[in-house]
Amino acid sequence: ARQSHIRNFSIVAHIDHGKSTLADRILELTDTVSKREMQAQLLDTMDLERERGITIKLNAVALNYTAEDGETYTFHLIDTPGHVDFSYEVSRSLAACEGAILVVDAAQGVEAQTLANVYLALDNDLEIIPVINKIDLPSADPEMVKGQIENQIGLDASDAVLASAKAGIGIEEILERVVTDVPAPDGDLEAPLKALIFDSIYDEYRGVVLSVRVKEGTVKPGDKIRLMNSGAEYEVVEVGVNSPKPIKSELLMAGDVGYITASIKDIQETSVGDTITDANNPTDAPLDGYRKMTPMVYSGLYPTDNAKFVDLREALEKLQLNDASLTFEPESSTALGFGFRCGFLGLLHMDVVQERLEREFNLDLITTAPSVTYKVDLNDGGEKIVENPSDLPDASEIKAINEPYVFAQIIVPNDYVGAVMELAQRKRGIFETMDYLDDIRVNVKYHIPLSEIIFDFFDKLKSSTKGYASLDYEIEEYRPSELVKIDILLNSEKVDALSFIAHREFAEARGRDITSRLKKIIPRSNFEIPVQAAIGAKIIARTNIKAYRKDVTAKIHTGDPDRRAKLLDKQKKGKKRMKSIGTVEVPQEAFMTVLQTG
Ligand code: GDP
Ligand code: MG
Repeated sequence: ARQSHIRNFSIVAHIDHGKSTLADRILELTDTVSKREMQAQLLDTMDLERERGITIKLNAVALNYTAEDGETYTFHLIDTPGHVDFSYEVSRSLAACEGAILVVDAAQGVEAQTLANVYLALDNDLEIIPVINKIDLPSADPEMVKGQIENQIGLDASDAVLASAKAGIGIEEILERVVTDVPAPDGDLEAPLKALIFDSIYDEYRGVVLSVRVKEGTVKPGDKIRLMNSGAEYEVVEVGVNSPKPIKSELLMAGDVGYITASIKDIQETSVGDTITDANNPTDAPLDGYRKMTPMVYSGLYPTDNAKFVDLREALEKLQLNDASLTFEPESSTALGFGFRCGFLGLLHMDVVQERLEREFNLDLITTAPSVTYKVDLNDGGEKIVENPSDLPDASEIKAINEPYVFAQIIVPNDYVGAVMELAQRKRGIFETMDYLDDIRVNVKYHIPLSEIIFDFFDKLKSSTKGYASLDYEIEEYRPSELVKIDILLNSEKVDALSFIAHREFAEARGRDITSRLKKIIPRSNFEIPVQAAIGAKIIARTNIKAYRKDVTAKIHTGDPDRRAKLLDKQKKGKKRMKSIGTVEVPQEAFMTVLQTG
């Protein structure tokens, strides 16, 4: 049967260890793409991914491989992102596979996300094939890395493949191991259809394109399908696989990874993790699906042009199809008008969402400073979840404010342990323990407030360890902290979108820091603008933006109409990311200054 010749696998690794490069080599070796079409990071299909050199989206591709046994196998390979903010993409990919190639950099060794990804793979009962990559590097030490894989992960590394994705070494061996080590999918072909939706994307012409892993039964064009969660029913228009371009096929069967289109225009009815079944012969129970992600970082997204509110809603709905971890809810701000409070898994995720909205949907947005969610115990015994600092109740109503803590594991050479501990301490971290992974590397474990992590922890960690540290963290629990809300007043008016929450001990310093930053970035006006920071009615910092001395607009009155048009145009562009707040023009940067620390 064809099923015995299918292999579904994923490539997992710490960021930069070479997943995407390995995927490129595999596509080349199997002639999935011609030499002419080949380009680096082929599966990173978004411009954003190529520009930044990171994988953001999972990406499934079907390829044919003729093995040493003479048989031709169909591989479904799913490339996955490495950054913590996208671990939801990884966990969803893994649920569609039977095996995983674990790539470890031969010079760097096991890093924080190597461990995190291995645990995800083990949770999904996947067969793991260890690959030690970059053996071409002079600093490569495959034997050391083998030791790490055995001691720190507990996997047998004696038969780990030694590879160089860059130089094309070991690629065939990896493919052979996929054939021999990764189990073929099972699943009854005669049973009622059961397919897991692991991703989706909105296409203007085809409607929602569902990425699926068929677990049981078969599906073909003309079949009537039902999405079990929403109950919505559709007729299948097309099924196929990406290779990497979409290729129609007659049928998808148990074991296949592919796509289904069914003229689905109503975005609300599809969700990642839902089970597709046969409407005329439904299966009794849906598949497990995925656990919902809880966003931990929130920020407000507002169109610079208020008339674009509806466009922004549509864009968010469409983007959510392709980014299942994004959440949003309408909110309004006195300063910014109507927008959305969006939930993200982290700062990189937030950044990526904003860029995708601007690029893929042609919107101009103002993003407010990100904030974590707080749990507030009220004096009347109630509890309030605060996703927006400006919603914090009055101090008189508050008994305690609790903030989320993460359990952070930082892997670092022992020379830098001191620097790591100093940083963690400064970020209000609580030391847990420290394990030696081998003679050189240490896993330092801390409980740290998430708000400190999202500020600039990672950058500071990188710079204080010369880039040697790797970080992984998971949200742990809420703990009470001495927190206060700081309001910013421009021209004596409170700007709700600039309010933030900080630890009492740092409140004054932060207030001073932020008012002086705002002073630098808010353009002068023809009147003096006081900039103040306040806790309740108490002003904790104050500075002034001086008025213009002379009329600079006079400069525009130039004789050359061409030049004048250009000047005006330039002005307009510069204004794009500005928002008038009362009488003051505030640039986008201002909303982010709240973030930066020292
Ligand atoms: P990913 O983040 O895991 O997808 O990693 P990439 O595939 O984007 O690779 C990260 C960097 O490592 C890129 O600059 C690659 O060119 C480089 N790289 C990948 N594989 C090798 C290898 O085998 N040897 C060397 N020397 N560099 C490699
Ligand atoms: Mg990549």
